Amino acid sequence: MSEQPRVEIYTKEDCPYCRKAKDLFDSKGVDYETYNVTGDDDLFEEMVERADGRKTAPEVFVDDELIGGWDDTQALDESGELDEKLGIADDAGDGPEHRRLVVSGSGIAGLTAAIYAARSNNDPLVLQGDEPGGQLTLTTDVENYPGFPEGISGPELVDQMKEQAERFGAEIRNGVVADVDDSARPYRVELSNGDVLTADAFIAASGASARTLGVPGEDELMGYGVSTCATCDGAFFRDEDMIVVGGGDAAFEEADFLTKFADTVYLVHRRENFRAEDYWVDRVQEKVDAGDIEIIENAELVEVHGSVEDGVDYAELVRHPEGYPSEKLDDPETETVEMDVGAVFLAIGHTPNTEYLEGTGVELDEAGYIKTEGGTGGGQTKTGVPGIFGAGDVVDFHYQQAVTAAGMGCKAALDADDYLETADLGAGQPATEAAAGDD
Ligand code: NDP
Repeated sequence: MSEQPRVEIYTKEDCPYCRKAKDLFDSKGVDYETYNVTGDDDLFEEMVERADGRKTAPEVFVDDELIGGWDDTQALDESGELDEKLGIADDAGDGPEHRRLVVSGSGIAGLTAAIYAARSNNDPLVLQGDEPGGQLTLTTDVENYPGFPEGISGPELVDQMKEQAERFGAEIRNGVVADVDDSARPYRVELSNGDVLTADAFIAASGASARTLGVPGEDELMGYGVSTCATCDGAFFRDEDMIVVGGGDAAFEEADFLTKFADTVYLVHRRENFRAEDYWVDRVQEKVDAGDIEIIENAELVEVHGSVEDGVDYAELVRHPEGYPSEKLDDPETETVEMDVGAVFLAIGHTPNTEYLEGTGVELDEAGYIKTEGGTGGGQTKTGVPGIFGAGDVVDFHYQQAVTAAGMGCKAALDADDYLETADLGAGQPATEAAAGDD
């Protein structure tokens, strides 16, 4: 029998991706050692050296081999290679596993759906993908979720919901849905590691992922000073000047959070009006008055300069008095500004994770959001395909709140229950016939 390889994880405090990495190995029943680099300069230097210069936690090693950060670990898990390295790869069984209800996504919408579905005896399997726990695991304090007058941390709220779902019998498993085939019953759900499941009903609650700008330097320096998660990486750039790009709640919240570490935070927004709530605008204004934040309006980041070895050197911005300067590069009023900063945080919104539904009868809008029935009365979370429902940020481009995602998750589970109770679920039937009892 082969011995389990040695797994080491460099972590830091307040690091949601470190938790995700630990949760992943926990879920596989694999032991690991952790090294907390917070406040330990020697350990931090050791991590940076072993991780080929990357200054972001976690950094995962298996038998001394660098696996990388959370994204790399997750990608290796999806392809099945991580299990091979860990010596726990599964041999293929006989035929796909069948489930009554599969929920893709373990954010607030997916977990709420799981709580309701488990209580209705629909035996939900929740597949937690690239971002276990969803976006809330990347926020610090959630102060507007009803029932927590003192606020609650995002990861804690998610953990409590997971516990609640599991208490009623929901199963939560790692897995990224790569494709759904809705041409016959039961539906075929293929995961990115090649595993296949079949499902009588499916709730898409796979949320949305952070957008990036696509400017030169951004990809190369991601993890080396460019980041989409201030709570994860802010502490690594202590006493440096930092840029936050965006003008919504996320950008304001991140700018506010980063003042804990930064010398000055520059909040860079492409126009003069902000989407952020007055609450955040007022809170940031206090930090502006105190000299901790400077708001740079009508400006856009066009390039990040630096190297993997030394991180971000400087950022190149363009400005135009009427905003959206990157569309006006030839205008004589457009000026280029170089800013000597040590880190750049992107907070420019999210893209819905719905690629796996392309090619099905589920209708998506041009941005990829699922079109559901909406309106009043039952069936609001129905898609164009009977038995497939949508909830949370895959549907909602407007409210995008934890509490609205929870509400939609609940509705989806109730709609799925209705469907499972009334539809003829005979195997092999075309979707339209099986839906006959589902009006
Ligand atoms: P938003 O879509 O609200 O804001 C995105 C911001 O990024 C906008 O200001 C937008 O500019 C800017 N942007 C988008 N693309 C580009 C680009 N290519 N170049 C430059 N700037 C760009 O996203 P958020 O993530 O901020 O918020 C999403 C939802 O989550 C909201 O409903 C928000 O209320 C909620 N939220 C709540 C929080 C809280 O209350 N604690 C914290 C975080 C999010 P423009 O305005 O010009 O379009």
